[in-house]
Amino acid sequence: MRYDTVIIGGGLSGLICGIELARKGKQAAIVATGHSTLHFSSGSFGLLSKDSNGNAIDNPLEAIKALDANHPYSKIGADRVAELADVATQCLNIAEIATNGSTDKNHFIATPPGTLRCCWRSIDGMLTSECSNSFDFKSVALFNFDGFIDFYTEFIASQLRGFSLEVSCHSVEIPELVVRRDNPTEMRSTTIARALDKIENIEILAKAINDKAGEAQVVILPAVLGLYRKDTQALLEKAVNRKVLTINTVPPSVEGIKMERALKSVFKAMGGTIFTGHTVVNHTVEDNTITSITTSKDVTVSAEHFVLATGSFIGGGLDSTHQEGIFEPIFGADIEQKEEQYTLIDIFEAQPFMCSGVATDNSFKVLKNGTAIDNLYACGAILSGYNPVKEGSGAGVAMLTAIAVAENILNR
Ligand SMILES: Cc1cc2nc3c(=O)[nH]c(=O)nc-3n(C[C@H](O)[C@H](O)[C@H](O)COP(=O)(O)OP(=O)(O)OC[C@H]3O[C@@H](n4cnc5c(N)ncnc54)[C@H](O)[C@@H]3O)c2cc1C
Repeated sequence: MRYDTVIIGGGLSGLICGIELARKGKQAAIVATGHSTLHFSSGSFGLLSKDSNGNAIDNPLEAIKALDANHPYSKIGADRVAELADVATQCLNIAEIATNGSTDKNHFIATPPGTLRCCWRSIDGMLTSECSNSFDFKSVALFNFDGFIDFYTEFIASQLRGFSLEVSCHSVEIPELVVRRDNPTEMRSTTIARALDKIENIEILAKAINDKAGEAQVVILPAVLGLYRKDTQALLEKAVNRKVLTINTVPPSVEGIKMERALKSVFKAMGGTIFTGHTVVNHTVEDNTITSITTSKDVTVSAEHFVLATGSFIGGGLDSTHQEGIFEPIFGADIEQKEEQYTLIDIFEAQPFMCSGVATDNSFKVLKNGTAIDNLYACGAILSGYNPVKEGSGAGVAMLTAIAVAENILNR
């Protein structure tokens, strides 16, 4: 099997890179071990959300100009970031992932415990605000499902009251889910989402809301709507005659699962191939050029270009042992680690190991023994030079570096 480009990794970065190549007519294949960190998604995308003191950033484009030269956005070029952010938004639109937000002004999204967090784009229909301490409505009815322990109604209510909202809390029983409550591990967001894809259950929910919500202007639910059906939130709003918004649950993230499925389906519709359940375990190299990769299922795939989009520690792109320190398991790429020390004793500090990752040149070609491998690029969470948690930049770096890599390949 031979392709123009083989992308290793099927997360946000690999999928966006694949879509960008496929929509420009290239034969691309994605090889992925399994699910990605999209299954932990908050339903929002950060471009650059926090400054070095942890304060929310108003205009990420301005703040990006001040980043270190080694930061992935600096390698892209601060001037190009806005352009690539538009392309990233187009990719989401093509996949029918409806989002809100603008590139030169961050907004805020409600988190599972009810606090507000700064972000660049957020999934349409989630509870968001233009500012950090108020909403444009006054009263809220907050609903959970009986037995669902991954949505913290009282925490959320307490936070929202702090924003001067009138909040009432309610619980709904969906009869189909009663049996699931016997085993708390089965009562997860995805189980509820599957039940709510049935119109009869949306009708039960609508009735409970109409019975209990009183005069509340807005209804808030856990983000468990529309796993397969796209119209459930709109149907519910019509039935309860008011705005229905959602707040993310703890993982699994239904919004993230929907995103991953939508991106995969667009990639395939554009002619892309996905090798799911294949872990890349080996490769061949000639004259500083990767010629093929081999997977755990003994499939060998060759290509003109390869993209390493295997994520960070959670995705499996980086690993570490006491003996070797941090390493990249497929190609043995050079690792860049800014600080000598990996961790700090204060768990709430920005941990230095989060900045470590694969070293690349300015076109994101992977370095090995200090030399750029001619046809191997890296994008997404595997890159060094930034701290996604401290900066709130994970999804932005994943998408923008994916597009930059696709453009660098297309321009060769
Ligand atoms: C808990 C959590 C919450 C987050 N919340 C936010 C947020 O609110 N906002 C934000 O902007 N960002 C957030 N992020 C960060 C953001 O989601 C990630 O930075 C981004 O999705 C990374 O995408 P990726 O494609 O680079 O890597 P990943 O999503 O890790 O994907 C890596 C892929 O590579 C595959 N893979 C790994 N090794 C191999 C191999 N040897 N062979 C084949 N395939 C392989 C994996 O199976 C997976 O498919 C969060 C991340 C986490 C973990």
